[in-house]
Amino acid sequence: MRIYNTLTRSIEEFVPLEEGKVKLYTCGPTVYHYAHIGNIRNYIGHDVLDKTLRLLGYDVYRAMNITDVGHLTSDSDSGEDKMEVARKREHKSAMEIADFYTKAFFHDFALVNCKMPEVVSPATANIEDYIKIITVLLDKGYAYVSGGNVYFDISKLDDYYVLTNHQEDQMVVGARESVEEDDNKRNQADFALWFTTSKFENHELQWDSPWGRGYPGWHIECTGISIKYLGERLDIHGGGVDNIFPHHTNEIAQSEAYLGHPWCHYWFHNEHLLDESGKMSKSKGAILTVSVLKENGYDPIAFRFMCLGSHYRKQLIFSYEALDQAEATLKKLRNRVNNLTEDGEVQEDAYNDYFNKFKDALSDDLNTSNALTILYDLLKDDKVNGSTKISLVKKFDEVFSLDLLKTDEVDSELVEYIEKKIEERKEAKKNKDFALADSIRDELASKGIVLLDTREGTKYQINK
Ligand code: AMP
Ligand code: ZN
Repeated sequence: MRIYNTLTRSIEEFVPLEEGKVKLYTCGPTVYHYAHIGNIRNYIGHDVLDKTLRLLGYDVYRAMNITDVGHLTSDSDSGEDKMEVARKREHKSAMEIADFYTKAFFHDFALVNCKMPEVVSPATANIEDYIKIITVLLDKGYAYVSGGNVYFDISKLDDYYVLTNHQEDQMVVGARESVEEDDNKRNQADFALWFTTSKFENHELQWDSPWGRGYPGWHIECTGISIKYLGERLDIHGGGVDNIFPHHTNEIAQSEAYLGHPWCHYWFHNEHLLDESGKMSKSKGAILTVSVLKENGYDPIAFRFMCLGSHYRKQLIFSYEALDQAEATLKKLRNRVNNLTEDGEVQEDAYNDYFNKFKDALSDDLNTSNALTILYDLLKDDKVNGSTKISLVKKFDEVFSLDLLKTDEVDSELVEYIEKKIEERKEAKKNKDFALADSIRDELASKGIVLLDTREGTKYQINK
C-alpha cells in the first residue's frame, strides 16, 4: 500500500514494523459537546484506513483516546479546559458531561458504520502513566517546573518542527488563538505537560502528582495511551489536519524525548469538512451531527457515501444538495446490487481481476472514489455473472461499509446473547447500578457490538 506520510510530505510505500501487523492510533474526540459531521468525516477516514489494511491482510490493532480532560479552549496553553466550559454551561459534573458526549459520539460513529478500535481509553483513566512519562522527561532535562506547572522545553530538541517542516501557515492552524503569553515558559512554544491548581483553581478534575495537585496537558494523553497500549513503536498515528500543529508536533517531541528513539513511522491526516460559511466548529453555534441528519430523515450512510466520493486529503464542502444527491445515488446503487441474483459458480479470473483493481485503488493512498468506480465498472460488466458480482460487492463493502447487500444471515446465538445483555443492562439501570450498566455496554463494545439508546428503546449494531 502507498500512503501519504505528513512526516516526509510524500506518498510512501507502507512497510509495517512487524511483518503482517499494524499498530494504529487515532486521536479521539474531545467530549465536551456533540461531534459534528466534520469530526465524523475524520473518523470515517480512519475507518477506511483501518478496514483497507485489514482487507490487504494486515492484522491491525488500533487504539483511540477520549479527551475528557486537559484540552483547553485554545490549542496552546491558554484559555479554560473545554470540559470546564461545558460543566458551567450544563451545570453537570465533568464526568457526567464526558459520559453523555462519549455515548453520543459512539452513537453517531456507529450510525456511519465505523468500526470500534480494539482499545478506547479516556484520558482520565491513565493519569499515572502521564506522571511516569513526565517524571522521566524532567530527569532527562527535557522538562522543567515553572510557576507550579511542568513544561516541555522545545529548545532541547534538534528539530521540534519536524512534522510541519517549519511552515508558518501550517503552524498557525492550531495555534491561531495562542495570543496569550505565558511568563512561566522559557520559550513561548514550550507546552504544558502538567498544570497545577495555580492556573485554574476551580478545575473539577485534579490528581495528586509530584508537582502538586493538578491535571495533565492535552498532548501527553495520546503519548501515554499510545505507548501503554501499542508499545514503544507505532506504525501509523492519525487525526485531522488541525492536529498537525501543535498536538502531533508536541506528541512527537515528548514521546521521542521520553523513549530515546524514533516513535511513529507514518503520520496520517484527514482534511476538513467545511460548511458553506467555512470551517465547522464544535464550540460555536448549532452543531450539525449525524444524529440530526437522521432526525431530518436522511440515511446516515448517505453521509458516509458522500465522504467516500472525495479523497481524504481534499477539503469537502457539505451542503444538503450534495447530501440529497449522495442519498439518491446510494439508493440506486443498492437497488442495482439487490437486483443481482446468484447464477452459478463464481468466475475466479473475473473475481481476482476486479478484486485486484479494487485493492490497487485503495492502495493508491486510499483512493475511495476510484474504488467506487471499480464497483460501477463491475456492475455494468456483462461478462461477469451475478454470483461473482455478489461475492465482490460483499468484499468491497468490507471497506465501503455502505450496507450494499441486504443480508438475511442472522447468527441466532449472537442475537440471543445481545438481547440478554440488553435486558441485564436495562435492569441494572432500573436499579441505578450505572457501573454495571456501563460495564455491560463496554463488554459488548469490546466484541464490536455498539448499543444505541433510542426513543424506541435500545438498539444495537454489530461491527464487522
Ligand atoms: P475534537 O473533538 O475537537 O478533538 O476533534 C476530533 C477530531 O476531528 C480531531 O482529530 C480533529 O482534527 C478533527 N476535526 C475537527 N474539525 C474537523 C472538520 N471540520 N472536518 C474534519 N475533521 C475535523
Ligand atoms: Zn491525540
